[in-house]
Amino acid sequence: MQSRVDESWVDDALPVRIVLVETSHPGNVGATARAMKNMALDRLWLVSPASFPSAEASARASGAADLLHSAKVCTTLAEALEGCGFVVGASARQRSLAWPTRTPRECAGKIVEEAASGEVAVVFGRENSGLRNDELQRCHAHVQIPTNPGYSSLNLAMAVQVIAYEIMMARAGSSVPTRCRETPLATAEDIELFFQHLERVLVGVQFLDPSNPRHLMMRLRRMFARAELDRNEVAILRGILAALVPGSGKQPRNNAKEESQ
Ligand code: SAH
Repeated sequence: MQSRVDESWVDDALPVRIVLVETSHPGNVGATARAMKNMALDRLWLVSPASFPSAEASARASGAADLLHSAKVCTTLAEALEGCGFVVGASARQRSLAWPTRTPRECAGKIVEEAASGEVAVVFGRENSGLRNDELQRCHAHVQIPTNPGYSSLNLAMAVQVIAYEIMMARAGSSVPTRCRETPLATAEDIELFFQHLERVLVGVQFLDPSNPRHLMMRLRRMFARAELDRNEVAILRGILAALVPGSGKQPRNNAKEESQ
């Protein structure tokens, strides 16, 4: 009986970034590198790690030190998502305003499918507090590893391991269609610029009260995350906003720098 998984996919690098946000224990960075290499992933991004490079990370990486050497270190999540289309956030908890949430298996199929059209990011949070709501709201979908309901938080590197394993199995299986999108998904930075533009217009037409915003922007983010906007669609939406409120497409001066970062 044949029990080995198909390995013919392994020569093609999969454009999937594993992004760790503000990791405090360097051992977890090393163990993540090892988990990734075991599962044939090689793009590690670190957002403001507490300590990196570090001897402890290198020791825990074992034979995966090459991933630590090629890891990209940056200071904001926005930087780590630059150029990415599909973005997934890993979270142990359901938040107050639920986002589309998938199991690792469902999510892995989607990740492999989207990786045929552009770079994908899977974002993991801090050991002590996970991902903030504003970070989770930058994601198209959330992935939650099913656990004991009374004890749901895995060690960071182990959470990476589970999801990386499912990505590998999805690559190895023939069930995932590798059909390219006609138009690539809008990049994470284009999506942020769109939301900034939308917010300016909504404030300008007095639909959104900045002193009492309630959950309006979060609800709109969730709605557009479900829609998985592509580059043309974002351009159309921004064109509509600019036509409705001429001049609104321009970033006010004091924010212009932030936007270009
Ligand atoms: N105490 C934090 C969890 C931190 S664990 C909290 O309550 O949110 C560190 C990271 O590992 C999390 O941010 C998440 O990205 C990932 N993780 C841990 N357990 C997970 C689970 N059950 N499902 C999905 N991701 C998980």
